[in-house]
Amino acid sequence: MLPYAGGENTHFLEACTLCSKPLGHNTDIFMYRGNNPFCSQECRQEQIEIDEAREKRWRVKKSKETSTKTMYGQEVLL
Ligand SMILES: [Zn+2]
Repeated sequence: MLPYAGGENTHFLEACTLCSKPLGHNTDIFMYRGNNPFCSQECRQEQIEIDEAREKRWRVKKSKETSTKTMYGQEVLL
């Protein structure tokens, strides 16, 4: 018997989406967008900001040209 080998127990809610910290039963879990668990508000906020930055970049790409020149220095940080 291998009590730790149960793959079925590896649930998606068991680790923070951002820092992979294990989430125990007594730990506060912060959900985001339905199925992403986080160990803290800070981690969740971080993910929200990452998502927002990603969406913003996508939008900038779509509407481009007008602001490209002034924003170029920052965009290049990629
Ligand atoms: Zn975390």
